[in-house]
Amino acid sequence: MPNGATTKRKDAQVTLVEVSPRDGLPAVCDGLSTAEKIRYINKLSETGLRKIECASFTHPRLLPEGYDAERLIAGIAKKPEVTYVGLVPNEIGCRRAVITQIDEILILLAASDTFNMLNLGRSLKESLHKALPSILETAAQNRRSVRVYVMTAFGCPYMGRIRPEEVAQLVLKLAYMGVSEIALVDSTGMANPKTVRETIGAVAEQSLDIKLAVHFHNTRGAAIANCMAAYEAGVRIFDTSLGGMSATPYGASELDLGYWNVPTEDLVQLFEEMGIRTGIDLEGLLECVRMAEKMAGRALPGHILRARPASQIFEIPQYLKRRPILD
Ligand code: MG
Repeated sequence: MPNGATTKRKDAQVTLVEVSPRDGLPAVCDGLSTAEKIRYINKLSETGLRKIECASFTHPRLLPEGYDAERLIAGIAKKPEVTYVGLVPNEIGCRRAVITQIDEILILLAASDTFNMLNLGRSLKESLHKALPSILETAAQNRRSVRVYVMTAFGCPYMGRIRPEEVAQLVLKLAYMGVSEIALVDSTGMANPKTVRETIGAVAEQSLDIKLAVHFHNTRGAAIANCMAAYEAGVRIFDTSLGGMSATPYGASELDLGYWNVPTEDLVQLFEEMGIRTGIDLEGLLECVRMAEKMAGRALPGHILRARPASQIFEIPQYLKRRPILD
């Protein structure tokens, strides 16, 4: 890692969780080899990022691109300061994950019962009372922490707005069950800064001993504004994806693949310009964006690779230096 990133990391004020290796890269880049995925994750680990979502232990019949999760995790040059996260759909997936060197287990559920049923094939109650306890037990026995995505935390495309109190109640249950980190996910980009403040406020009122993260989607262009609202409401953990890479957002299948996560480099640049330290080496991150664009075979929607950081001073081009001809 560049020395700058090591020094900067110590006094980081926010944590960015990089989700692209699992939530984006395999969808955006067709036919990636395991070695290419490993090289990408190793390069990301050099930038000062402290948490990386790497793989999914979903059955390959349901998720063919996740066929190599075990080999992928075995191939990573793990860094002790980085937490490597693996998604599991059920207890069997969790049992697969804990025999690898993955540090943290990720589970999905939705605040909207309808969305939970449509996307996970079970009711929210079943998720909470059947799927989760066995995953949590397996993770605890193998000394792995558990992170949960609460999808549709800011709205469900089929049921509408989710009340902040409902989200707060769900977070309370998950905290009591032993989950260590919860990410409130705006699955189809329905949040706005007002609903973000209200929902985070309702969760914060409970003063739980839990790490709270946000995961916004840019479906309607409001993701960065929502990150700022969440920061002002006290959130310090943000899920982002290099270049904005994503799969198609749940429940919005008419939208294009690959464009809906918050680009990591955009949020790093914004925080740093505001004097909020991320501990991440932006130039190293931009190198990773170049690598991802090469693998994807196209430009990705993040802004900073091409716009450059706002504080960068440009040389005045020759044509502007010429004396204007007034007559
Ligand atoms: Mg996402």
